[in-house]
Amino acid sequence: MQIQHDISLKPYNSFGINAIAKDFADFDSVEILQEILEDKIYLQAKNDLVLGGGSNLLFTKDFNGFVLKNNIRGIECIAADELYYYIQVGAGEQWHQFVMHCVAHNYAGLENLSLIPGNAGASPMQNIGAYGVEIKDCFYSLKAFHKKDKTIVAFKNADCHFGYRESIFKNKYKDAFVILSVTFRLNKKPVFHTKYGAIEKELEAMNVKDLSIQQISQAVINIRKAKLPDPAFIGNAGSFFKNPVISNEQHENLKAAFPQIVSFPFQDQFKLAAAWLIEQCGWKGYRKGDAGCHPNQPLVLVNYGQATGTEIFELSEKIIESVKATFQVQLEREVNIY
Ligand code: FAD
Ligand code: NAP
Repeated sequence: MQIQHDISLKPYNSFGINAIAKDFADFDSVEILQEILEDKIYLQAKNDLVLGGGSNLLFTKDFNGFVLKNNIRGIECIAADELYYYIQVGAGEQWHQFVMHCVAHNYAGLENLSLIPGNAGASPMQNIGAYGVEIKDCFYSLKAFHKKDKTIVAFKNADCHFGYRESIFKNKYKDAFVILSVTFRLNKKPVFHTKYGAIEKELEAMNVKDLSIQQISQAVINIRKAKLPDPAFIGNAGSFFKNPVISNEQHENLKAAFPQIVSFPFQDQFKLAAAWLIEQCGWKGYRKGDAGCHPNQPLVLVNYGQATGTEIFELSEKIIESVKATFQVQLEREVNIY
């Protein structure tokens, strides 16, 4: 176990923000994690941060605490029954590599979630979702280390209180646990989800005859590559804001005032496409210095090179204010701010 000091977090966050971490250590087992948590440097630290792939956070200042970088690896089929495979993945595995492993082995259920950056351990944090699928649909359980109690706790699906980009780990148990591994219950017989977004159109363009999870995964990869900025070239953390969920009454009023508004029925309410709201307020393609709003997908704020976290954050404030002023809708940030 090695503790480093005053290291740049630039390589560890997909926005490419050059924040400095006071203390930093990585771990690839729960034993090393425990060693770190018992070290006097950790015990004296003001605060801490468990870091996965750094693709859902924004540093607005240096991190004056202890960064714990999770590198626990391993993918294993731990059980199978008539209908399902139970696949356990170490928190430090890259999410997309894990999905590719499942797709290659015909473990069905995660194919719509191809090409999402970040690590498997963070996937339950906001119940990652795309193209009509969320991990809660095939999440089975996870193991997490309680930092204060020093115990390993198992969480089943219902224990995680999954919601739209939400879980218990963002609320009641915020900062309490280090997720060590996640187990997914994946189908032997696939159930295809192709009705969402541009998937059907892309499958048609690919001239797909026999639908398979491999084809769906490829369609999602193609769409995402064409539309979303690759953090390797343009710093970003995906959707900066959640799509707001509003009441039927508010939806009716908005629809009357803005007939083109993009909305979807959502659990007896309505979900608005935040990207549409932001575009209407004139932000799509906006750039000031190196902080901007992406020209293809205005929900994604970007760092064209040297933007600071504060500049990105200030841009997000302005977007929130203008959407509120125009539509009386409150945008909420999806990205975790530090
Ligand atoms: P990090 O950014 O490292 O961490 C995020 C939060 O989780 C932090 O609060 C951190 O402390 C906590 N955390 C991380 N790992 C652990 C752990 N092991 N134990 C406890 N806490 C932990 N998200 C979607 O839902 N759907 C998408 O389609 C999607 N598309 C994206 C596209 C792009 C181009 C980008 C850049 C991002 C996208 N995201 C998407 C957001 C992001 O990739 C996911 O939220 C991802 O799960 C974050 O994983 P990470 O390992 O990078 O987490
Ligand atoms: P899109 O397909 O252009 O759709 C725009 C919005 O409309 C999405 O946010 C999506 O909501 C919603 N939507 C589309 N079809 C829908 C349907 N049939 N029923 C209900 N809602 C529908 O979106 P995109 O930006 O290209 O992203 C595609 C998918 O990847 C989306 O699911 C999106 O959430 C996900 N994604 C997420 C992130 C992130 O960082 N969180 C980044 C990039 C892409 P939902 O967002 O609720 O799905």
